[in-house]
Amino acid sequence: MPLAFAHDQPAARIVFGAGAFERLADELEDRRWLVVHSGSQADAAARLGERLGERCAGTFGEVRRHVPVELADRARARFEELGGEGLVAVGGGSAIGLAKAIALTAQVPIVAVPTTYAGSEMTSIYGLTADGRKHTGRDESVRPRDVVYDPDLSRGLPREVAAPSAMNALAHCVDALWAPGATPVTTLLAQEGARALREGLEAMERERLLYGAALAGWALGVAGAALHHRICHILGGAFDLPHAETHSAVLPQVTALNAPALPEAARAALGGDEPAAAIFDLARRAGAPVALRDLGLREDELDAVVAAVVEEAAGNPVPVDETTARALLRRAWAGDRPAQTPPSRAGNAP
Ligand code: NAD
Repeated sequence: MPLAFAHDQPAARIVFGAGAFERLADELEDRRWLVVHSGSQADAAARLGERLGERCAGTFGEVRRHVPVELADRARARFEELGGEGLVAVGGGSAIGLAKAIALTAQVPIVAVPTTYAGSEMTSIYGLTADGRKHTGRDESVRPRDVVYDPDLSRGLPREVAAPSAMNALAHCVDALWAPGATPVTTLLAQEGARALREGLEAMERERLLYGAALAGWALGVAGAALHHRICHILGGAFDLPHAETHSAVLPQVTALNAPALPEAARAALGGDEPAAAIFDLARRAGAPVALRDLGLREDELDAVVAAVVEEAAGNPVPVDETTARALLRRAWAGDRPAQTPPSRAGNAP
């Protein structure tokens, strides 16, 4: 088959390395920056504020997951009141998500300093929650202009947050292998990201994990999301499940479904002949959830989302009907170790 693809990747400056955050104030231009931060990053935000001096409009540490619209409105009002002209987001996906909500209306640049492995820093996707429903959209104005990955900031991430967060990043790599925007470049990123994340998870090695997460975010930002993310989005929206933990429990089962359609190089990057079982075992060793029931979901609640999963599975390399979707959800709920999935020539992903 002839090789043909469009790799649409808007430029962002990416800086990776221990100590990069401590140098950030010297790199930022003259404008009034509001530092939005996760609760855990209050000290780092205060340090940056001090170094910025007059260029710091203030700090904002009230951050909640899924960005409730009332919180976004309050943060936008505060940004205006302080005369903000730019945003530095230091923290997890929730802090970056709040900065995106402000940038969406204020149209100012974001500098993202991710301290988890969520990947939001590399996308133009924003999310806002109103009346219990999460609305997501895409807008180039929310894509961070600069991204600083500093492993020193993620060292404090407790293992019970780090392990599911790394599984969430691994899910970006897996989905990127068959997502609609996949290109040979995103496939390379996803494969190398998966290798780094698997090694990082085995040893809980923070620099390796952040490197893998950076590649995963990059792949996700260009390739987009596919069936795995759609299932997690449906579950998260319907039952308010925790983000990274839900990814961790669902990933082995979606990998089992699609593994037969994966080319050899991708299977190798995900763990070999039995990638789904390898991912499942890795999650268990790292202490990340493998069962939705451990997140508080009841088995009888699954029926409510089967039809939505089938609808969202259009374009998946392996066809999904109601029976397949129900079985997949049931296994993710129970935390069953995936059975071996033999390779097939049908429907190879790019
Ligand atoms: P999070 O930002 O809520 O952080 C999880 C917890 O970890 C928080 O309590 C936080 O304070 C703490 N924490 C963060 N960094 C820490 C550190 N270095 N040390 C100690 N504690 C630390 O969760 P998340 O998983 O990073 O992000 C999830 C959110 O991001 C969800 O709302 C999800 O929808 C969104 N998201 C968006 C995109 C996108 O492209 N828009 C992509 C991925 C995730």
